[in-house]
Amino acid sequence: MLEELRQVLRAVALLAPKRQSGGLLVVVWSQAEGHGQKCCCTVVATGGWHKKMSEKNLQAALTDINEGLLPNLLWSVMPDPEEVSRFSNLYGPVKLSLTFQMKDVRISPECQAHVESFLHTFSLVNAAIEVQLIINLSLQKFRKSFRAKFRSKVSLPDQPPAVLDATCVAIPHVCVGGGPWCAGGHAVLGSKVPLSIPLEVMDRGLFGELNAQLVLLLTPCMRQFPNLQTNLCQIQVLFYAPSKIPVIGPSHFFQSLPSHIDGQELGLHSLQWSGFTDPSNCGNIVFTVESEHPSESEERERCLLFEQNLSVFVFLRHSDPFMSHFSEVLSTETLLGHHLEDILQNNRQAVVAAFQNDLRSTLKLQNQRRKNHQKFKSGVRMMLKSTMSIVRSSCSVDFRRACFTRMMVNNSHDLSTSLGESLTRVTSWKFVRNSRCFSAREEDGPGLNGVSRPAM
Ligand SMILES: [Zn+2]
Repeated sequence: MLEELRQVLRAVALLAPKRQSGGLLVVVWSQAEGHGQKCCCTVVATGGWHKKMSEKNLQAALTDINEGLLPNLLWSVMPDPEEVSRFSNLYGPVKLSLTFQMKDVRISPECQAHVESFLHTFSLVNAAIEVQLIINLSLQKFRKSFRAKFRSKVSLPDQPPAVLDATCVAIPHVCVGGGPWCAGGHAVLGSKVPLSIPLEVMDRGLFGELNAQLVLLLTPCMRQFPNLQTNLCQIQVLFYAPSKIPVIGPSHFFQSLPSHIDGQELGLHSLQWSGFTDPSNCGNIVFTVESEHPSESEERERCLLFEQNLSVFVFLRHSDPFMSHFSEVLSTETLLGHHLEDILQNNRQAVVAAFQNDLRSTLKLQNQRRKNHQKFKSGVRMMLKSTMSIVRSSCSVDFRRACFTRMMVNNSHDLSTSLGESLTRVTSWKFVRNSRCFSAREEDGPGLNGVSRPAM
C-alpha cells in the first residue's frame, strides 16, 4: 500500500507545487464488492492547498499516465461522507479525492507503521498542511493526526518554500530562573550541491539539471540561554523529492559517510551510522555523535550540558527544459527516487564537502559556547577569590555574620561553596529574550515565524 500511496501523493503534490495550506486526509476503508469486501485507500485534499486544482483537471492530467506509474484509480468513489465532511469543516472545502483499491482486504500492523511513518516524514516539511490518517475497517479502527505545533518557513532557492514542523519534542525540564524555553527550532539554509547524473542513470531516461539543497534544524533551541553549554548527540538526514515527498534513504552512501568526514577538524570523537529510525526507511537516516572526551570538570558540570539533535533536510531539485508532459515529470521523479544511491555515489566528493561544511557551521556555535564557558569559569573563580578575601580579612564580626546569614551558611568554607554555586548559576542561566523564539505563551498565537495557521 505504501508505494501506491507514495505515488498518488506524489501526483497530487506535483500538480500543486506551490501549496501553502489546507488539509490532507488519507482514509483506508472497505468497499462492498459482490459478496465480499475490498479494501480501498482514498486521498482527499482540502482547503487552500489546491487553489487552481479540480478533480476534472486532475483527471485530464492523469489520463496519459502509463499503467504502473499510478495504481488503478477509482473516480467518484468516496469513503464515509460524514468523515470527509467533518475533515472539510475543519480544513476547508474538498478540492479533489483519489481512490485506489488495495490488493489485501486488511492492512497489516507492519504496513500501518510504514504508512504512519511515511505521513509523519511528509508532514515534517509540509507543516502548513494538516494531515490525518483514518483506518476504518470492520475489525480495525485507527485515527492519527500529524499536526505541527510550531512551524518554520524556509525559502529555498529556485523552488517553492518549505514549511517545516519546528516543534521540539524534548524540551529540557530544568530551568533555573530566566525565561521560558523556546519550544521550537529555527531552520537554517545550508549548502547547495549541484549533482551530475551518471551515464547509466541517463540511459534509464533521467536528464536535465539536478541539485540538492540542505536545510538544517537544531533542537532544542538554546538561543535564549547563550551561556549554557551544548552537545550535539544525534544527526538525522531526510531526503525529499522535488514534490517534497519523502524519498527512500540512500543507505549505502550514508553508511560510509562517517569514514569520509574529517572528525578531527570538527572536534568530533566519532560519528556513527545508526541506521534508519523509521520502519518505512523514508530517508530518515540517523547518526550518533560523540564529541571529544569531556574533561573531569566538564563531567561534574553535566547538569549544565544540554544535548541537541540536528535534522538535515535534503531537498532535491530537478529541471529539464525538454520535459513538458505531466507523465514525464511524474516518471522522472520516480526514476530519481530509484537511482538516488547511484547519483550520490557519483557526486561523493561534493556531497561529503557540503555535509562537512554545514556540520562545521553547526559545531562552531557549540565550540564557541564551550570557550565562553571557560571564560565565565575563570571569571567566577576570580570573583569568588576576591569576595572571600574581603570576608576573611574583615575584622567586623557583624559584617561576617551578615554574610553568613544572607547565604544561609555557618562558616566561611560553606560560604565559599554556596557563593561559587550561586555565581555559576547566575552566569550560566543568563536569559536573553529572542524575538524569533517560540515561547510557551505563543503556543496558541496566530502566527509563528512568519507562518500563519492554515486558512480554513
Ligand atoms: Zn528559539
